[in-house]
Amino acid sequence: MNLSELLAYQSRKYPLKEGLITPTSRLTYKEWNFKVNQFAHALRSLGIQPADKVMIHMPNTIEFVISYFAVHRVGAIAVPVNARLINSELSYIFDHSDTTFFLTHELLFEQVTDLVHEKKGTFIKTGSATDYWLSFEELMSNESGTEIVNTAEEDTEASILYTSGTTGKPKGVVFTHRNILTVSRMMAVEMEMKPSSRMLHMMPLSHSAPLHLFMAAGTYVGAAHILAPSFSPELLLELASSERTTHFFGAPVAYLLTAKHPKVTEIDLSWMKYWVYGGAPLSRSEVQFIQEQLDTEQLYCVYGLTEAGPNGSLLLPLEHDEKAGSIGQRAALNCEMKVVDDQGNEAGIDEVGEIILRGEGTMKGYYKDEVKTKEALKDGWLYTGDLAQRDQDGFYWVVDRKKDIIISGGSNVYPREIEDALLRHPHVQDVAVIGVPHPDWGETVKAFIVQDGTMNHLAEECKEYLRQEIADYKIPKLYEEISELPRNATGKLMKNQLRDQIHNR
Ligand code: ATP
Repeated sequence: MNLSELLAYQSRKYPLKEGLITPTSRLTYKEWNFKVNQFAHALRSLGIQPADKVMIHMPNTIEFVISYFAVHRVGAIAVPVNARLINSELSYIFDHSDTTFFLTHELLFEQVTDLVHEKKGTFIKTGSATDYWLSFEELMSNESGTEIVNTAEEDTEASILYTSGTTGKPKGVVFTHRNILTVSRMMAVEMEMKPSSRMLHMMPLSHSAPLHLFMAAGTYVGAAHILAPSFSPELLLELASSERTTHFFGAPVAYLLTAKHPKVTEIDLSWMKYWVYGGAPLSRSEVQFIQEQLDTEQLYCVYGLTEAGPNGSLLLPLEHDEKAGSIGQRAALNCEMKVVDDQGNEAGIDEVGEIILRGEGTMKGYYKDEVKTKEALKDGWLYTGDLAQRDQDGFYWVVDRKKDIIISGGSNVYPREIEDALLRHPHVQDVAVIGVPHPDWGETVKAFIVQDGTMNHLAEECKEYLRQEIADYKIPKLYEEISELPRNATGKLMKNQLRDQIHNR
């Protein structure tokens, strides 16, 4: 089995069942597979070879999904990228991934025209053709939909997903078909997916969680996929109700925005049984608020990282009562998880150590980076770079990322703890804490604060507040007011940009 055959198999099994749905079109599994064959033939006519890299720069559209499966059907390697990346980020990934085919959407192509003029390759956009761009639809209309069979083994490389670069340059995470199929089986079982399931996709399909945990897993069971080009609380409420969706995956912020929406309590959300969030924790009070507003107990937290495919562990609905904020007490199906010290020994209760994960969903390695691959994969274990503690009930709590630790005067300071404390201040709207070089202490703690305009003596007011919250040595010595924190296309904080700013001053 490989990803391409997975879809072909479902189209034989469920030819007339709804497969792909957008606000303007609906495809059955058979129609979906037919279009994949048409586009795969078009790619072949253009001379694509197995293992060629194809960048897919599209929002969540039917064309994204057709491209993704067609690339696999011809044995090429998909490089899906977030449609909101800026040109310098795209350019880096284009060159680093050795892309030779670039697919984009009509709504995005003007933005990338200057970029691709500098590059060599074949350029395809949805909509009509122009001097430089071939038309996705025209290419397909000339082709038959006769079945192309991809006999690639599970260990063949399937795709490269770039990390979002919050800890440095984005890294190209290489997945084989086996990696993706393993994670999709894991999720299909954990989230009880069935042919009758209806997956609501609002997060960018270029990311491993929506792509593998929902798109691949849903396809694995023959579920229907409902695609929205991007997230908004209104659209979530509308589609969840009109399409009777059963599964949704979103970042915590998507849940908080939806729970605050004035219409949330008027909409019938009773079909939704699996509200899945991940990428960051939700606090107990946030969980309570979301549960009340969405009228559900069915909140699942997933912990993971792109390199793990991404799923490592799960916090189940009932566990949220006592343990919201943690990442659960067990690894997901077919995965193992441990917290280890620097010598690789399992850390004791409440001791901080690094989370390591083992399972067939874990990446093959980083593209063109043997050194980083060797650092991350040791004896079959993925070293996540996340620090965690295991409590006496066996639940794991993420403390921070190893690369973000500040060592000040020989003591470890975890920025996340300080950020959480500052976020509880009524006038602080957003915050990032980093370490900056200091001649005597190695590093000193600095906070960047977005405030509501009512704090006139930022440093003094923050310090006074923090004295009631955390130990003295953790309290930042330096404060800087900032109008907005640098965040990437998925909303993650780019601390490396703050560090660079300080370095370049
Ligand atoms: P880069 O590796 O380039 O810095 P990134 O941080 O965006 O990119 P992702 O794979 O998107 O990489 O994010 C994974 C990280 O998100 C994890 O390593 C962990 O720190 C954090 N994370 C994921 N899920 C959770 C969760 N449920 N609770 C707490 N933290 C989480």
